[in-house]
Amino acid sequence: TYQPKQLLVTGGAGFIGTNFVHYWLASYPDTRIVVLDALTYAGRYENLQILEGQTNFRFVHGDILDQPLVEQLLREENIDTIVHFAAESHVDRSIYGPDAFLRTNIDGTHSLLKAAKIVWLDEKPGFAHRFHHVSTDEVYGTLSATDPAFTETTPYAPNSPYAASKASSDHIVRAYQHTYGLQTTTSNCSNNYGPYQYPEKLIPLAISRLLQGQAVPIYGDGQQIRDWLYVDDHNRGIDLIMRNGRIGETYNIGGNNEQANLSLIHELCDLLDARFPDSPHVPHRQHITYVQDRPGHDRRYAIDNSKICRELGYVPSETFQSGLAKTLDWYLDRPEFWQDGVSLFGSHGEKA
Ligand code: NAD
Repeated sequence: TYQPKQLLVTGGAGFIGTNFVHYWLASYPDTRIVVLDALTYAGRYENLQILEGQTNFRFVHGDILDQPLVEQLLREENIDTIVHFAAESHVDRSIYGPDAFLRTNIDGTHSLLKAAKIVWLDEKPGFAHRFHHVSTDEVYGTLSATDPAFTETTPYAPNSPYAASKASSDHIVRAYQHTYGLQTTTSNCSNNYGPYQYPEKLIPLAISRLLQGQAVPIYGDGQQIRDWLYVDDHNRGIDLIMRNGRIGETYNIGGNNEQANLSLIHELCDLLDARFPDSPHVPHRQHITYVQDRPGHDRRYAIDNSKICRELGYVPSETFQSGLAKTLDWYLDRPEFWQDGVSLFGSHGEKA
């Protein structure tokens, strides 16, 4: 078992990164986390502010493309583990502006790998380290209703600029392991939901719109299927992989929870009807509005998680019902996160 001691978490002020930092420091308070985040529209320093002042936490506002900065942090903080979340993550944005996706997701990942190679392999041969790369199931492309779920050997077939940039970064990570011996692991996870998700993505967008009695846009026929996982269950998978996963391997993470977008929104509407029976917005389903489908929209994603379950004893802890209820509670407690000043892009949000 490998135990990370000083971690550099890239993108730690975004959705999954924030949840990871809180999960990790609660689980392993004797370790130290340095967050490196450029605070794009998707990053929120406030997500981590409560940790400021703790000796096991430091926030650095900076870009993963700044290789000298990354090298400096690896040296001065004696970092042994990089957990790489930083990315441009919204498919719709990648359709209208792919450049930032290629820069951050491809060149940014390469910048981290170069820094890690120099500091960990060239300067300190034999230094125990891990580079964990966080990726997505979208690299595998789309499934028909009857196809078997994605496994780790499913051929890559990314369809959006976002997915292509993540696929590319997965290959570069793989090459740094095979060519230079960098100690890497990669996870490909399905759609996440939970606290701190920016309200451009489907679930927080729908919660925010429904609570305000606004239209909830649904792409096309709403029958696109995604495999939803509560964010802490993703982070527990990453934890298992970093400590016990095999070097150079990729692991799919998923919760066996396929939902069509429309039925997911129906479930959310019913949950809100039950919670707020006297709201003028009941029945919440009246706010569903169909909009033109996203270009190149993948039809179905589904994750076969048997490798991580078998090798690492992974078991997701939330059901979709329990996870969705927790998520709703979290947003209800924090209207400031979704009520004002949210710059929505396009008409609809679906995840990374
Ligand atoms: P997010 O968009 O919420 O957060 C991304 C974070 O990265 C933000 O804090 C942003 O400020 C930061 N960032 C962006 N560019 C940067 C740069 N150049 N340098 C430093 N920081 C930068 O994303 P998320 O949903 O939390 O996703 C995190 C990771 O998980 C991504 O790599 C994504 O591809 C992957 N992933 C996401 C999902 C999902 O459902 N959200 C599923 C599977 C995998």
